[in-house]
Amino acid sequence: MKTYIVGNWKMNLTVGESSIYLQKLLKRIRPAKGIEVAVSPSLIAIQPLRMQLDKNNSKVKLVAQNFYHRDYGAFTGEVSVSQLRGLVNYAIVGHSERRYVFGETNKDLKQKVAAAIRNGITPILCIGETENEKNFGETADVLRDQLLGGLSEIDAEDVKKVVIAYEPVWAISSNKGARLAAPDEIAESIKLIRNELKETYGKETADETPVLYGGSVNPNNAGAYLTIPGVNGLLIGGSSLVSDHFIDIIELAKRLRA
Ligand code: PEP
Repeated sequence: MKTYIVGNWKMNLTVGESSIYLQKLLKRIRPAKGIEVAVSPSLIAIQPLRMQLDKNNSKVKLVAQNFYHRDYGAFTGEVSVSQLRGLVNYAIVGHSERRYVFGETNKDLKQKVAAAIRNGITPILCIGETENEKNFGETADVLRDQLLGGLSEIDAEDVKKVVIAYEPVWAISSNKGARLAAPDEIAESIKLIRNELKETYGKETADETPVLYGGSVNPNNAGAYLTIPGVNGLLIGGSSLVSDHFIDIIELAKRLRA
């Protein structure tokens, strides 16, 4: 299984800044077997970055942060995943900011997962409990609900085409009072996720579905998070905005695989 290092730039960086960042990344990183490097810029930067990447024989993949689940039609202001075909390799679905700032529900998200699969783009389905849910002992229920809810509109054989990202909401750096997750806490949730996949879709799917961790990852803690059993990579927000930090994490992932 590959190790995924994915940077989520959220609503940051202009098109010009995104392009300079990518140029630096392409110059500094060498392709490494088994390491998948991907960045998720703002929607408006995707097309120019795609052109920049094609010229450089892409060793960096592009990720959409969001899209609408219908392929085309009268949906003013939306962009469909079918319009993103050929531009991105991955698309984030159900990031906690989409769930809690924009009110997206499992009903919306299962349609997005299905739309991405239908269009040959790998969905990165984010799941994770809030601090309150954790404190009330509801983590297992929330993870099951978000995981199986998000996957419920695709065929069982397509589940391995989805990347799951475990992102506890209380560990995401932009949230007030965020705290670092301990590797043991993450390991427990990763186990729950893989058990759920195994019970519902079988051992092969549980073993072959990539599961990433995200939440306040930085160059100092990335090694500890990458070596948690069952973790296949990292989804990085704040720290990915500093290209040197993102590159340090990529280098670390390479050393750990070597
Ligand atoms: C995220 O929002 O996906 C994320 C993981 O953010 P951060 O790394 O800043 O906690």
